[in-house]
Amino acid sequence: MNIVLLGAPGAGKGTQAGRIAEKYGLTHISTGDIFRANIKGGTEIGKLAKSYIDAGKLVPDEVTCEIVKGKLAEVSANYMLDGFPRNVFQAEELDKFAKIDLCLNLAVDDKLLMERICGRRMCACGESYHVSTLNGATTCKKCGKELYRREDDNPETVGARLDTYNKQTSPLIGFYEKQGKLATIDCGAMTPEQVFGCVEKVLDKYIK
Ligand code: ADP
Ligand code: ZN
Repeated sequence: MNIVLLGAPGAGKGTQAGRIAEKYGLTHISTGDIFRANIKGGTEIGKLAKSYIDAGKLVPDEVTCEIVKGKLAEVSANYMLDGFPRNVFQAEELDKFAKIDLCLNLAVDDKLLMERICGRRMCACGESYHVSTLNGATTCKKCGKELYRREDDNPETVGARLDTYNKQTSPLIGFYEKQGKLATIDCGAMTPEQVFGCVEKVLDKYIK
């Protein structure tokens, strides 16, 4: 099973992706994580990507598509794409070199997103938290490492990222609906556990 995880920044893709990968044995491929690793490593791709990421814009399609194509040449089946495709061009390219079975769309109210992302704290282990539930703690409950804030999780960049999502990425909802592959989960005010319950219902039914 090959799936695409769709959702605005802050919709909870990363949190759900970790759980889905673990329970269903899927390889998690996150273009955002790949870019951040490249920035950290000081690679050419990282240098190029940084200016776009800092501005809340999409990294150019040619670069992004090549990266995903390369990954899928290694993985080939049972994967979950997180953060790709992010516009219709990327989705059409993806259909040329991959067979997507399902698009899981995590729908969250626009108003909630800004507050969620601006209060988000990350751990290197993949966990993420919201300051409102940390009670002043600065380390990860799971592994004890120091939490940090993603550089693009500031109000200006978040505004641009949400704008980019609404203009360029949200048309993918219609794209996958037309292909009969869309499953939308209305996350509203649900906890991550409740959202995962809905995800399980969709995936369990799908696997049968
Ligand atoms: P979020 O969903 O919270 O915005 P991601 O980690 O998925 O975070 O992406 C962070 C940034 O990386 C995006 O704002 C964008 O600049 C870049 N990026 C990630 N995936 C893609 C993609 N498929 N195409 C172009 N740019 C991308
Ligand atoms: Zn941790």
